[in-house]
Amino acid sequence: MIEAKIKQTLRDVADFPKPGIIFKDITPVLHDPILCAEITQALALQLADIKIDVVAGIESRGFLFGLALAQELKVPFVPIRKAGKLPYKTIQQSYDLEYGSATLEVHEDAFKPGQNVLIHDDLLATGGTVVAASKLVNLLQANVAAYSFLISLDFLNGRDRLTSFSPNTFSLAK
Ligand code: AMP
Repeated sequence: MIEAKIKQTLRDVADFPKPGIIFKDITPVLHDPILCAEITQALALQLADIKIDVVAGIESRGFLFGLALAQELKVPFVPIRKAGKLPYKTIQQSYDLEYGSATLEVHEDAFKPGQNVLIHDDLLATGGTVVAASKLVNLLQANVAAYSFLISLDFLNGRDRLTSFSPNTFSLAK
């Protein structure tokens, strides 16, 4: 089962990047090409009934499976990046993290009005990051069709913050 394989493979790193945080390190997952292919297929399968026009991946670990998932779904991929990284005209949204705060940006022509956007990241914690990403999607008059994550830390109740954008939140492991 994919959830068990992900949990067995990823590495918990205590007190990174701050004391008290247990960081879910996915680099051992990236070392396993068969598991990576299974993850991409499992992410796509969860979304089979949802109309998706674009996959948006969040910097930086959301790029890893986000692009693979977009390829699997045969739709475009859009990078949502931290401030100051994207070269063309951008729109911005600030947000709070489980640790610290940051600003996300996307190119102003990344989504067309009315498009259905899947937001992907490696991990859902408090939900602050994907809420900011959702606001960027809505600022460009596109819709959040669903969220997909490898891992959701459900004890932080991040899912509750997403329902006003989309009822569809999927993760492969908890
Ligand atoms: P949040 O905005 O609180 O949902 O945090 C999610 C973002 O922070 C994602 O981009 C994750 O990659 C990262 N993140 C937060 N907490 C952790 C954690 N415990 N382990 C790994 N990544 C984390």
